[in-house]
Amino acid sequence: MNPQPPNLSRDPIGLCGQCHYCRLVKNARGSQFYLCQFSEIDPRYARYPRLPVLRCEAFAPEPPGQAVSQ
Ligand code: SF4
Repeated sequence: MNPQPPNLSRDPIGLCGQCHYCRLVKNARGSQFYLCQFSEIDPRYARYPRLPVLRCEAFAPEPPGQAVSQ
């Protein structure tokens, strides 16, 4: 795991948008949420973290081009 964040100065999502454990969930009204799948492994992590997440010990960067789309 890599807790070192990329440049997040203007990113409204923060680390989750580039994390292997994040999945984008959309509801019927078109709202979207960032689900942290690491919360299923470790309950100390919120299922839907408050954004932007600027620091996270469980952050696992996706390979380039695999980030969660908004
Ligand atoms: S592990 Fe951390 S950075 Fe990754 S989705 Fe969960 S809260 Fe976001």
